[in-house]
Amino acid sequence: MPSGPDFTSTNRATGGKKNANCSFCRKSYREVGPLVEGPEDVYICGECIELCQSILDQEHRRRGESARLFTNVPTPREIVAHLENYVIGQEHAKKTLAVAVHNHYKRLMHCEESDDDVELEKSNIMMIGPTGCGKTLLARTLARYLQVPFAIGDATTLTEAGYVGEDVENLLLKLLHAADFDIEAAQRGILFIDEIDKIGKTTSNVSITRDVSGEGVQQALLKMLEGTVANVPPQGGRKHPEQQYIQIDTTNILFICGGTFVGLDDIVAKRKGRRMIGFGQTEDPEQTEKDRRELLADVTVDDVLEFGLIPELVGRLPVLSSLLPLGEEDLVRIMTEPKNSLVRQYQKFFSMEDAELEFTPEALGEIARIAKTKDTGARGLRSVIEEAMFEILFDLPEQEEGGHYRLTDAMVRGEERLFPEGPHDDSAAA
Ligand code: ADP
Repeated sequence: MPSGPDFTSTNRATGGKKNANCSFCRKSYREVGPLVEGPEDVYICGECIELCQSILDQEHRRRGESARLFTNVPTPREIVAHLENYVIGQEHAKKTLAVAVHNHYKRLMHCEESDDDVELEKSNIMMIGPTGCGKTLLARTLARYLQVPFAIGDATTLTEAGYVGEDVENLLLKLLHAADFDIEAAQRGILFIDEIDKIGKTTSNVSITRDVSGEGVQQALLKMLEGTVANVPPQGGRKHPEQQYIQIDTTNILFICGGTFVGLDDIVAKRKGRRMIGFGQTEDPEQTEKDRRELLADVTVDDVLEFGLIPELVGRLPVLSSLLPLGEEDLVRIMTEPKNSLVRQYQKFFSMEDAELEFTPEALGEIARIAKTKDTGARGLRSVIEEAMFEILFDLPEQEEGGHYRLTDAMVRGEERLFPEGPHDDSAAA
């Protein structure tokens, strides 16, 4: 009990106080149970005490965190160095992102510390690149490094049809979830919105049948990117008049929008006056790939506009970062180098069964080659490995301990089966 005012609980108090109400939520003793009584007929119920506690906790956390974040914004070089541990290739995108993210959090620091009149505007980021080349991975890795809440949303669910799709505010709710409902933290988080390229198509085509509520969703998205105080329904779903909203200020949320922008390379080629002689049809796929890479590396805001994204949207995503399609060599590196690489994950599996697993370089090359044909970037790797290992993963728990397994390219192609080396060793691999 505090030593100051004389607090008592009404359930120990005399009967006359049984009709007391909580002074904060106005609910009666009957509804909420025991009340704590303060001086001069002030009461508080258990629910309100808990609420106060969580507000205080949040405030303590906020102070602690902002002190940490704001004395220590990593430099772009430090950010890139961290990304190197997880993301293979995409050097240019890493640098662009590192600078943008550094500036974003520096700006937050500036806003918080000074009240001079040079207002720094925020710069949301647009990432362009094919499926499975690391867009989401980059955004997620950044958020984890900076220890800010991170959530992923999908622009198509917002736009397909205004009244069927989700409210834009639901994206913010995801961020709030990621922040454990700490509003302050959510307001400094990173929100990744995928498939942003699908959003332009619906609005650029002005038709009389245009869905009005769809338009409303777009406007809400634009406002959110720019900075607004949004009313977020705590339960998710559609807004409901009776619902109480949580207000989230999006001014300091960093939005990273990603999209594949299929066909953007053709637009760049056209702008650069390269008549696409045989583009996409040359006999030499390597040359085609090289061309595509060069073109994508040159993407400008004008190309994105030409693609059909509405200017209002492009204007709110001023940092443009393009990621390149991953080549077979990149795919091999992705399988082996990152801290949590696929090879390491499978080796871990085997070691849990007291066995050892080795991938021959040829096997890795073959996995990369097959994955590359699937056109899903690094996403295809897991299913190729999974297929090659299917039988042995089934048998492994019953095999003798201490087995050594070596996966070869022939096994990846399904021409041979993976057996433990030794008595069963019939592999022809080098
Ligand atoms: P997208 O570009 O479609 O957002 P993701 O970032 O979700 O692709 O990539 C899917 C998975 O592929 C990631 O979880 C990661 O394991 C792997 N991956 C993709 N690109 C890279 C990369 N550049 N470096 C390392 N892993 C990658």
